[in-house]
Amino acid sequence: MHLLITGGTGFIGSALIRNLTDDGHEATVLSRGAHDNSASCRYVRALDDVPLAPPIDAVINLAGASLAGKRWDAAYKRELVASRTETTRNLVDYLAQREQKPAAFLSASAIGIYGHQGEQPLDESAPVGSGFAADLCRQWEAEAGRAADSGIRTCIMRFGVVLDAGGGALTDMARSFRMGIASWPGTGDQYFSWVHRADVVAAMRFLLQEEQLHGVFNVTAPNPVTHREFCEAMRAHFSTLPGMPVPGPVLRLLLGEMADELLLNGQRVLPAALTEAGFSFRHPHVESALDAIFNGHAGD
Ligand code: NDP
Repeated sequence: MHLLITGGTGFIGSALIRNLTDDGHEATVLSRGAHDNSASCRYVRALDDVPLAPPIDAVINLAGASLAGKRWDAAYKRELVASRTETTRNLVDYLAQREQKPAAFLSASAIGIYGHQGEQPLDESAPVGSGFAADLCRQWEAEAGRAADSGIRTCIMRFGVVLDAGGGALTDMARSFRMGIASWPGTGDQYFSWVHRADVVAAMRFLLQEEQLHGVFNVTAPNPVTHREFCEAMRAHFSTLPGMPVPGPVLRLLLGEMADELLLNGQRVLPAALTEAGFSFRHPHVESALDAIFNGHAGD
């Protein structure tokens, strides 16, 4: 298979490309930076540079400025939106005018689309929430959804917080645990819907392979935990003092609006569509996922 991938240099994309190329697939990666090509992976700076042959079998759209990268001032919020909506719009327009269209288009989104719905379990039929992250995801998904109008099988992937070593949210979270400080944001009762990066890659491979699947897919482990439970699972791997809360007002002072949207408002998300389609998670429980990450164990 020949895949066109945006965001392929990132935390999720780099793992996906390793997995695909190890299996003999080829990737063309749309990237803003300069990178060395290999036999199975070439980098292009613009869609016009994507080769016409071999034809593109599938497209995976992961690009977007980091949500936790900077404080959300007005300029950065514009960048968070544009780096997703404009990139996706350009990509979908490009695919629509390509003579040989790909069979599948997989586009990232996030569980932030559900906003704050307390302890309510949220499958793909749950209503879209409100707030900046929810609005951003709604616009992003709307742009991606236009690929279906060109007859391309389209899957929207609402990722939970992706966990693994070497990047993503866990690297930041583990820092304080390494210093012996265990904490949770706010009350700690809010839900934390996580997923191991290996399961994210496996889910994308599954969505590519299962040609009857289309629509929205929550890509989260089937057993979300509260932030307090996540803190306890982390403590099993570090010598820390007992866990304690970081009060909401302190987080708001430090992080601004991001504190509520990413930490204090939880979502209890269930991967109903993937599970119904027969996908099985290698790391369904947070304890085994963290064990795999910190101790190299294989999973459940
Ligand atoms: P990363 O931040 O690691 O990588 C995203 C990639 O997007 C980068 O490698 C970069 O590629 C590209 N990018 C960054 N800024 C811009 C910009 N301003 N304009 C266009 N492209 C940009 O993200 P992840 O791999 O962690 O996540 C992939 C996608 O999944 C993201 O869109 C993210 O929002 C979403 N997601 C991730 C979650 C997670 O926990 N990791 C959770 C929920 C959603 P390059 O520099 O090569 O152009």
